[in-house]
Amino acid sequence: MVKVVKFGGGCFRKPKGVEQIIAIIKSSQPVPVVVVSAIHGCTNLLLEILNQALEGKQNVHLALNQLIARHLQLISAYPETVKKRIKQKLRQKLNSLKNFLLGVSLTREVSPYLQAKIISYGERLTALLLQELLLTHECSAVALETDALGLITDDSPHQASALFPETTTNLSRCLLPYLRTGTVPIVTGFFGRTRNGQITTFGRNGSDYTAAVVARALQAEKLELWKDVPGFLTADPQLEPQAQKIDHLSYFEAAELSYFGAKIVHPRTFEPLLAAPIPIEIKHLHSPHAPGTLISQNSHRSQGVIKSVAANREISLLHLLGPGVGYQPGIIASVGQALADEGINIYSILTSQTRINLLLHQQDLEKASQKLKKFTPGIISSVIREEDIALIGLVGEGLKVKKGIFARVFGAVSRAGVNVEVISAGASEVAYYFIVKDKYLKPAVASIHQEFFGQALSRAVNGTSRP
Ligand code: ASP
Ligand code: MG
Repeated sequence: MVKVVKFGGGCFRKPKGVEQIIAIIKSSQPVPVVVVSAIHGCTNLLLEILNQALEGKQNVHLALNQLIARHLQLISAYPETVKKRIKQKLRQKLNSLKNFLLGVSLTREVSPYLQAKIISYGERLTALLLQELLLTHECSAVALETDALGLITDDSPHQASALFPETTTNLSRCLLPYLRTGTVPIVTGFFGRTRNGQITTFGRNGSDYTAAVVARALQAEKLELWKDVPGFLTADPQLEPQAQKIDHLSYFEAAELSYFGAKIVHPRTFEPLLAAPIPIEIKHLHSPHAPGTLISQNSHRSQGVIKSVAANREISLLHLLGPGVGYQPGIIASVGQALADEGINIYSILTSQTRINLLLHQQDLEKASQKLKKFTPGIISSVIREEDIALIGLVGEGLKVKKGIFARVFGAVSRAGVNVEVISAGASEVAYYFIVKDKYLKPAVASIHQEFFGQALSRAVNGTSRP
């Protein structure tokens, strides 16, 4: 039996978290394959260092010392000899990064692949740090980098997808022998390489996706994603303090929730697992024995159908107006292509005869609107931006077929005195979403949460078990 366990950057925030990680790995049965993210904040730091290098105003040596210092902070309580040994190893690892950065500051240029290579160092350092700590704790372990292992991807530098079966062959050949001899392989998350050896990443927070790729390649029985949160919740606790942990979700429910803004797991984590239905468990680093959220191919339908109310404030709408857009063959394709050329992802499209409404990440709004204004003056007469909005997503197996759910949701929204701007339903079997003005997000979420989970809450308070 193979078990893959992944520790997110949030687990590497404090020395206590690191000690917990070591305890979890040492007590795991069987010996696990470990996948790691960069420690909290380090990928951002690498991006900052890269930007400074691009502007030519950087002291590379100083910047790299800062990176090492972040790692050493996590082991401040260890004996000096251990700290010294680890510092030396980290410094060695950074030698090649130093050269890449010096190159960037001279040329003031970076290709997307070189950028991917530079930001991959966060994960390389974590793997090395954890290897050294496990060895210190007399646990046999080896840090392994996914480019060397042969985690092969397509050519997309920052939104890559793993290629099977090459990846399966390479990872099983390299990793399984370690497990047989009781050595813990520690694998870098976040990146892989193309067939030509260029480094690619799976996008920000992509280490969850790596963990799923490794689990699939090794035909693991189970994938544990260790986080600094208890699991998926019935709502964002910052919006709804009564939010509770969800025990069980299907891949599709979890994927939709992640897509709608629940920042627990990377939305693409489930892709590699569909072909090999390996169950995932989200585990809480600081209560390792408590059950987390189980995510498997199928889940049961919950009593109220809705399992979670997700919210996303980081979205905006771009309205493309034109009297005949509904009748223009190929217009959606050309709009899509124009945005794809700029690397802009469209979350969703809603059309009518006179409007195309694009749901975008708010950071892409300006660029998208500039691009589309120039784009088709004959067809699109104006481009209007709407920014002060937020999305509410509802997720639950059976939501499309169960009668009366809509009425309950919008009854709750209207009781909160909230107007709904746009609704999209029916695109997914397990989810739909609608958009409200940002200022109404909190009351709308609270009212829906009360409608669907209020009873469960009062039962929990009165001591009976949750449904
Ligand atoms: N270190 C990468 C990031 O910060 C990947 C990850 O954390 O999963 O985006
Ligand atoms: Mg917004």
